[in-house]
Amino acid sequence: MNIAHLLLGSAQEFRDLPALARGTSAHLNYRDLWRKVSVMSTHFAARFGLARGDRVAFAMANCVESIEVMYAIWHAGLCAVPMNAKLHAKEFAFILANSGAKLCFVTPDLAGTIAEAAREAPALKEIVDVTTRSYTFMAVGDPSPIADAEPTDPAWLFYTSGTTGRPKGATLTHRNLLAMTLNYFADVDRPPPGGSIVHAAPISHGSGLWNFAMLARGSVQVFPESGKYEVPETVELMNRWPQCSIFLAPTMVKRLIEHGSVAELQPEALRLITYGGAPMYVSDLKRALDLLGNKLMQLYGQGESPMTITHLSREYHGDRTHPRWEQRLASAGRADSCMEVRVVDEAGRRLPVGEVGEIIAKGDPVMAGYWNDPEATARSLRDGWLWTGDVGAFDEEGLLTLKDRSKDMIISGGSNIYPREIEDVLNRHAGIAECSVVGRPHPEWGEEVVAFVVARAGQTLSPAELDRLCLDNIARFKRPKDYKFIEALPKNNYGKILKTELRKLL
Ligand code: AMP
Repeated sequence: MNIAHLLLGSAQEFRDLPALARGTSAHLNYRDLWRKVSVMSTHFAARFGLARGDRVAFAMANCVESIEVMYAIWHAGLCAVPMNAKLHAKEFAFILANSGAKLCFVTPDLAGTIAEAAREAPALKEIVDVTTRSYTFMAVGDPSPIADAEPTDPAWLFYTSGTTGRPKGATLTHRNLLAMTLNYFADVDRPPPGGSIVHAAPISHGSGLWNFAMLARGSVQVFPESGKYEVPETVELMNRWPQCSIFLAPTMVKRLIEHGSVAELQPEALRLITYGGAPMYVSDLKRALDLLGNKLMQLYGQGESPMTITHLSREYHGDRTHPRWEQRLASAGRADSCMEVRVVDEAGRRLPVGEVGEIIAKGDPVMAGYWNDPEATARSLRDGWLWTGDVGAFDEEGLLTLKDRSKDMIISGGSNIYPREIEDVLNRHAGIAECSVVGRPHPEWGEEVVAFVVARAGQTLSPAELDRLCLDNIARFKRPKDYKFIEALPKNNYGKILKTELRKLL
C-alpha cells in the first residue's frame, strides 16, 4: 500500500478539477499532476540511481513543486524528507546527514545554503533547483506504474522542530500517513470536491500533512506566491478559491484576526480553520470565533503522531450556551477516532480523572521510531505507547486539557505550576501582545515564576497591575514574582516560543 495511490484515485475521479494553484492561477489539474508525477518518478532510478527506500530531501519555500516532488518520490517507492525552508545551514546539514538523503530539491533562494550544508552530508550526491532545466527535464518521458510499498515502509521523515535540542526524524510510514488521513475524514472534515486549501504554514509540517486529505477529496492546493504567510494575500486567496480550508498555528490565527484585511474575508469563503501545534489562549480563540463564526477546530498532535492525538470539534467551539463552554475551549478535546489516549504516572499507571500526568497515545498514526536514533526511540516508544512528553489531565467529559511540556513545568515549594495557566490569565490584559512564563532557580523554593511580557505598541504596563490581575484569578503562589518586559519572544521556525532561550536570559 503506497500513499501515492491517493493521487491515482483522484486523477481518475476528479480528472479535470484543479489540483495545484500558484496564487490565483490554476497550475495543474488532477490528471496532469498524476501524469507529471509518474513521469518524474522514472528519473529517480534512471538518472540519479536511487532504489526503493532511498531518502530524497527538499528545502523549498512553499510552492507547487513541493507537492509534485513529494508524490514523485512516493510514486517511485522512495522516502521524502521535507525540511523547513527557514532552517539554518547547520540544521539542514544535520538533517541531510542524519537521513542519508542522496538527492535534495531546492528553490533558488536556498540553493547556496544547501550547497554549503551538503559539505557535511556525504551521502548527498545531487541538488536539483526546481526552477532550472534540470527539473523541467524530469517531466520528459513516459508514465510509469506506482512502485510497490509495504504499509510499514518509511514514507516521510518528519524532523521535529527541536524546541529542546537536536531535531529527531520521526519515521512516518505509508500506514501512519493513511491512518492520519482517514482520521481527518472521521474527526476533522470531509472536504468537498472542488474545495481548496491555502498552504500558508510550512509544507514540511502541519499544512503539508493535511495535503493528503485535500488531495484525496479533489480539492485544489493553493500556494501563496510570496511563499509565506502574509495576511492580505491569504485573505485574497481564501476569497478566490471556493470552500477554503487552512491550517494555522495559534499565533497565525491571532495575526489573522488582528489584521485589518480580515474585514475583506467573504463570509462564505472560509470553510474551516484547523489550528494546533501550540497552545491557543482562550481569549484569542473567543475573538476568532466572534469574528470568523463557528469555523474553527483544534487538533493536538506531534510529529511522532502526526496531527492526530485529540481534537476539539467545531460543534464544541460553537456550543456557546453550554455551561462548560469555556472549559471546553481551554481543552484540546477528545481522543481521535483511531487513537487510544491515556494520562499516566511515571510508571505508566493510568491516573484518575482530574489528575495531571504524562500523556501517552497509541494508534496507527504513531511513528515507527526515530530515524537512526534507537536510544531516543526507546525513550519515546514503550510497549507500543508513544510517550508524548506533554502533561495534561482528562475531565469527566473525556476532554483532555494540556498543561505543558513536562520539561516546562515549574516546581516551586514542592507544588507543580503550569505556565500555560498563568499565560492564559496574563493574555486577558488588553495591553499584552504576547507573554511566556518560565521557572528561575531559587535557593529556597527550588524555582520561582518569571513572566516575559511583550507590550502592545504604545502601551506601558506596570508589574503592579499584572500582579493584581493574577491575584484576582489564580492562586497566590502561582503568580509571577518577576516581570521582564521585552521587545519580542524568541521563536523557532514554526513560530513556537523557545522557553529554553528565555531561561537562558535569566
Ligand atoms: P511538533 O512535533 O513540532 O508538531 O510539536 C508537537 C508539540 O506541540 C506537542 O507535543 C505539544 O507540546 C504541542 N502542541 C501540539 N498541538 C497542541 C495543541 N493543540 N495545544 C497545545 N500544544 C500543542
